Amino acid sequence: MSDKHFDYFVIGAGSGGVRSARIAAGHGAKVGIAEASKLGGTCVNLGCVPKKLMAYGADYGYHFDDARGFGWDVPKDVSFSWAKLIENKNAEIDRLNSIYGSLLENSGVELINGHAKFIDNNTVEIDGQKITADKFLIAVGGRPRAPEFEGAEHCIVSDDAFFLDKFPERVVIQGGGYIAVEFAHIFHGMGAHVTLLYRGSLFLRGFDETMRVALSDEMKKAGVDLRYNCDISSVSEKDGAFTVCTTQDDEEIEADLVMSAIGRVPVTDTLGLENTDVKLADNGQVIVNDQYESSVGHIYALGDVANDFPLTPVAIQEGHVLADRLFDGQKDRKVNYENIATAIFSAPPCATVGMTEDEVIAKKIKARIYDGSFTPMKHRLSGRDEKTVMKLIVEPDTDKVIGLHMMGLDAPEIVQGFAVAMNCGATKADFDRTMAMHPTAAEEFVTMRSFRELSDIDFED
Ligand code: NDP
Repeated sequence: MSDKHFDYFVIGAGSGGVRSARIAAGHGAKVGIAEASKLGGTCVNLGCVPKKLMAYGADYGYHFDDARGFGWDVPKDVSFSWAKLIENKNAEIDRLNSIYGSLLENSGVELINGHAKFIDNNTVEIDGQKITADKFLIAVGGRPRAPEFEGAEHCIVSDDAFFLDKFPERVVIQGGGYIAVEFAHIFHGMGAHVTLLYRGSLFLRGFDETMRVALSDEMKKAGVDLRYNCDISSVSEKDGAFTVCTTQDDEEIEADLVMSAIGRVPVTDTLGLENTDVKLADNGQVIVNDQYESSVGHIYALGDVANDFPLTPVAIQEGHVLADRLFDGQKDRKVNYENIATAIFSAPPCATVGMTEDEVIAKKIKARIYDGSFTPMKHRLSGRDEKTVMKLIVEPDTDKVIGLHMMGLDAPEIVQGFAVAMNCGATKADFDRTMAMHPTAAEEFVTMRSFRELSDIDFED
């Protein structure tokens, strides 16, 4: 016997879950949603939003210096209050949490606070309450992967970084992905000494190599201690300070904070899925087909818990499309996974859409590469030694722009716009006949003329 029955029961009130629940309710379905924590999921509480607010905060560390070249008399001892930033950030997140609550309430979705656990294919239990539904959606997202070296218990992960009581003066970060690089910027921009240890030879694997090299150079110039082919072998603690032993000649680094940012794992281990016939992949993700259907026909999964693109906008679109398909008969609705633009909020930021040069080479596409690097106008007066780097990748047969990459001021804002053009199939000729907007950095993308051609030599193993 169930205590409650819904047409659609969503587990996880994050980006994907809330969107799907709201849209389904709008189509007339009786919808419930379970959330064990705050509304809005990782993006709102422990990811995109607080990270971006903190990255803005870190950017001021650069702005104050840069302002002097424009005539501003900025005192040398300008101070920063971590406590104030966290307080203001928390207030903004509270505001967003309540907006999410209103969105659910206004669309008629019933929110049940608590941890949902499947007890069979048709029932979940939340604090002793049994809930059945015609259809379930698992949208529980992921959590930071726990490090495993000796003394790992002394490390924080990104979830903790948003709530530190005290600003750390010396920070060691493990990892070379989005989170490691973004937090290196956050702590460095606010004045900490940051050492980033990455196990490979160049961080941000999967991004275009020209951008990876350029950002690596800029971060080193700015004073971030980047160590490649280097990892943490152990961490020990004494009187609240930490000693990080690295894999490079057993070097020891003293730190006030050690943060591990080595990827995220799906939160499927506490959902009681062993009581169902839902199949999981080796990495713990729910295996779904292109309709987001798991191995149990009426249990769906989307977002970070199931897809290959752990990004908020992807989860939102997936949730929306699924609700339209299930409750509005829009059987042909599909998410467009082409040309997903993404950014790293570093200093300077990087943004990318489409194929990288390495991908083009791997696929043996004889592409034309237009790239260039220049000092942005702002830094002519600020005196900051920082470049902007851009790259366009064009397929000669079709003239289509198949990759667009940028490291430099405003890169995320610029690249989002070009992603629209690429989704419309923009060609290099379209770029060329577009009038430049002057003076901007973005105009470089429509004025690039010289190129190098990838040839068979580039394709040799
Ligand atoms: P990423 O997958 O981006 O990076 C993980 C990093 O950790 C890689 O450098 C990886 O190295 C390294 N690593 C993995 N396992 C180990 C290990 N056992 N020991 C040492 N190093 C290890 O994960 P993040 O945690 O940075 O971010 C998770 C996801 O969240 C991203 O993939 C992204 O989709 C999303 N995200 C998006 C953001 C944005 O859009 N701006 C911001 C933050 C997160 P290697 O490359 O060698 O495998």
